[in-house]
Amino acid sequence: MTTNVMAVYSATLSCMNVAPGMAFWKPALVIGVVTVFGALIPGILDQFQNFLLLIGALFIPAFSVMIVDYYLVGRDGYGRELLTAKHQLGRPTRGGGDRRLSDRCRPRRLLVAGLTAGVRRLAAGVRDHRHALLAGRTATDPATPAGRRRGVRAMSGFALPRGDATSWYRLQPLADAITLIDEPGIKPFYRCNIWHVRGRDRDLVVDFGLGAVPLRERVALLSERDIVAVASHTHFDHIGSAHGFDCCHVHAAEADILAAPDNARTLAARFLDDAMFDTLPPLPYAHSGYRIPAPAAIQTLEDGDVIDLGDRRFEVIHTPGHSPGGIALWEAASATLIAGDILYDGELIEDAYHSDLDDYAASLRRLRALPVRSVHGGHFPSFSGQRCHALIDAWLRDHDR
Ligand SMILES: [Zn+2]
Ligand SMILES: [Zn+2]
Repeated sequence: MTTNVMAVYSATLSCMNVAPGMAFWKPALVIGVVTVFGALIPGILDQFQNFLLLIGALFIPAFSVMIVDYYLVGRDGYGRELLTAKHQLGRPTRGGGDRRLSDRCRPRRLLVAGLTAGVRRLAAGVRDHRHALLAGRTATDPATPAGRRRGVRAMSGFALPRGDATSWYRLQPLADAITLIDEPGIKPFYRCNIWHVRGRDRDLVVDFGLGAVPLRERVALLSERDIVAVASHTHFDHIGSAHGFDCCHVHAAEADILAAPDNARTLAARFLDDAMFDTLPPLPYAHSGYRIPAPAAIQTLEDGDVIDLGDRRFEVIHTPGHSPGGIALWEAASATLIAGDILYDGELIEDAYHSDLDDYAASLRRLRALPVRSVHGGHFPSFSGQRCHALIDAWLRDHDR
């Protein structure tokens, strides 16, 4: 008797989960009647074992897929907001908006979509892991293309691996005595490009990365000579290690943020979590303890200022839009543009709390007029002047500007 009441009660609650607006008595009545008549069917209890088998056959694989999807493949992809969101389903994008799967939350569609996505992701995870094993690496190795693209976790572990401080930064020498320094443990979407430019009298460094591993102490190139340090803007992925330099230059419109770089205004509060990483910074780093120290001295820049390295001159171009104090550095002699986050070859962020679309369009138009040959952006690989024009034209077209 007790078992039957509990069965009716839990079946009723399941119905109400699917359709929360439903009155309790309706499903309770229907299920109660079905149960009573069901119990009267002769010989039905003999079939109980088969019934349990059927339930097991149907639900154990479904729940296995869900559990593997939640805890292994899509770990941390399900935030509280997502699970409690009524009308928006889907992972938050870096831009902050949610991809809408449907306008209304339809439970049946959700279940089907969830199961399909789970099976697909599981299959992809197994495939990546097999590829990684064949290549002699783990699936979490940022060096595997699949690991880099989607950050698939190793199927055998629950936590992201930790990186090593000595190999946290990677250096890639490019043309015109420019070196790209970056943090391969961070996914490309979030990985800031740190630019080092060799000059005759002094060097230039633009941006400083996340700051989880001290930049200047770990990259010998940055401690050899006199350095002019410039922040393209003050988002956390660009200024984490700025305090390692005696004085940091920044556009006047964001000097106040650099002077007190809290997690809200630098966007760390919005973006910093496991989803950013393929490999976590070495201990004792923890997301919860992330704070950016302010540089000891800050010098402001304005549009038209020139940074002189002795034999090379970089002109400051104020490029608001992504953020109010964004700047690009333009070396006319080599037709090189160090662009910051206003322009790179990837998804641009134009919806931060201090972004402005009119400013964005005006800044891009300004850059479009430069006779540029190579662009070094704030994220993703560098590109040609031709690509630069194509990207700007596409942006202006997409935004009806
Ligand atoms: Zn930014
Ligand atoms: Zn950035």
